[in-house]
Amino acid sequence: MVVSDFDDLLAANREFANDFNLSGFDGVAHAGIAIVTCMDSRIDPLRMLGLKPGDAKIFRNPGGRVTEAALEALVLGVHLLKVERILVVPHTRCAMASASETEIQERVGASAGQDASWHAFHVIENQEVALKTDVHKVQAHPLIPDTIKVGGFIYDVDTGLLNQLV
Ligand SMILES: [Zn+2]
Repeated sequence: MVVSDFDDLLAANREFANDFNLSGFDGVAHAGIAIVTCMDSRIDPLRMLGLKPGDAKIFRNPGGRVTEAALEALVLGVHLLKVERILVVPHTRCAMASASETEIQERVGASAGQDASWHAFHVIENQEVALKTDVHKVQAHPLIPDTIKVGGFIYDVDTGLLNQLV
């Protein structure tokens, strides 16, 4: 037996599995939706769009950026997993958009007790510009057809509302 630092979560998981009803269905996006959003714990990507498990492919990273890995996920989503609409959703009060690269490196360095200035965190200087660039990256990708709808939105963590910018 592995002595687990995760016992509380494993207990919760057994509860979850007791009335598990998601078995036996495929991994496609049943609502045809893919979402790229931030790792922020204030964001509940499915519920904020009225979706449920099985409906959407979700890709998260700090800031909700369209990175190479995000594009990889979106291409797979579009071609193999029935994605037809893509939402790129950064959010208000995002740590990645409210501090400088140096500030983040200094805060991580202070927590780690060592220099972190060598590590890139890709902070966002202007969230609206970054969002427009990211949406364009998806639209311009050679393997994302023009029939796929791509939208850029800012999620307001204080109201729960999405504001479409692109
Ligand atoms: Zn964030």
